[in-house]
Amino acid sequence: MSIVDLPLLPLGKGRDLDAERGVECPGDLPAASDPSLVARARAAKEALGERVFVLGHHYQRDEVIQFADVTGDSFKLARDAAARPDAEFIVFCGVHFMAESADILTSPAQQVVLPDLAAGCSMADMARLAQVEDAWDALAEAGIQDSVVPVTYMNSSADIKAFCGRNGGVVCTSSNADVALEWAFAQKADGGEDAKVLFLPDQHLGRNTAVLQMGIALDECVVWDPRLPSGGLSREELQRARMILWRGHCSVHGRFTEDVVDELRARHPGINVLVHPECRHEVVLKADLVGSTEFIIKTIEAAEPGTTWAIGTELNLVKRLADAHPDKTIVFLDRNVCYCSTMNRIDLPHLVWALESLVAGTVVNRVTVDPETEADALVALQRMLDLPGKSHRD
Ligand code: SF4
Repeated sequence: MSIVDLPLLPLGKGRDLDAERGVECPGDLPAASDPSLVARARAAKEALGERVFVLGHHYQRDEVIQFADVTGDSFKLARDAAARPDAEFIVFCGVHFMAESADILTSPAQQVVLPDLAAGCSMADMARLAQVEDAWDALAEAGIQDSVVPVTYMNSSADIKAFCGRNGGVVCTSSNADVALEWAFAQKADGGEDAKVLFLPDQHLGRNTAVLQMGIALDECVVWDPRLPSGGLSREELQRARMILWRGHCSVHGRFTEDVVDELRARHPGINVLVHPECRHEVVLKADLVGSTEFIIKTIEAAEPGTTWAIGTELNLVKRLADAHPDKTIVFLDRNVCYCSTMNRIDLPHLVWALESLVAGTVVNRVTVDPETEADALVALQRMLDLPGKSHRD
């Protein structure tokens, strides 16, 4: 494998404009210890007024989220940005693929800024366009490409969404993955046995949705490993499969394990275990409830006082929920600290630097998607918006 095929770069090292993870920040950042940072952020935001709209993903740090005009999951935030056409600058406190989605859904006049371009997503980095195109060609060689519909999770780069748009596929979120799969199967052979889905890039969301919500057997799900010839799968395995799951995962949600669920149940009888569908299948099977970040928030908001919850999602959100609900016992589903390291790259110094640069008339760290990619990605996003029923949340 050549170096160019490697999906992951060490954080903050080198310069790879093709990598989803991006590049180092240029310019001088204020020192993290500067006690005036909060006042500086507030002053810069006030100076920009309605010209700037700050988006904060649920997994962001408190020091950043306090400056968000709106909080939410990635798709909600991109739509919120689109609903503010008068804002010249969209400052996205989240990760790179989210800023790309905001750029796709906003007008060309609006400029999307990611305060630290090194805030990527390890899951999105696990499916790169060249790898997915190679896999698509291999599916043609195996004689099954015509039966396959590509479906990508929102947590993917713009060029993967565009690939799905070009090839009859769709984007999904963790809230509507079941509806997206139903739609995808119905596109081929009247949804019959021959129809297959190539699910990108999160194998866990794909498997959990297929098995637990669609009734597809576990042995009808195979994992495509992009590092192996033909994904490590034989022609027969591919022909038998209904779900071809890309070998990608979230480095945060992939950490949760069954033994911690058992341990917490022993320690807190009656505890409710609530996890995100990016968790491994074995963990989801042991949980009481599974759902998107919005589902997790709503479940805790609606929970009875005095109840006890173990939550398997990113730690910033779990801590915020625990602080907001002192009448409930909320514990984290991991023994160790488990922040999303790339989400956490957006800190107050980077936010202050981005905002003050805008005040000074310089747009730093702008994220843009080229028009061709944008047009194809929009096709796949629009197919998702046209799906019946469910909300579109991750
Ligand atoms: S929490 Fe997981 S999916 Fe979300 S940005 Fe971090 S690595 Fe990516």
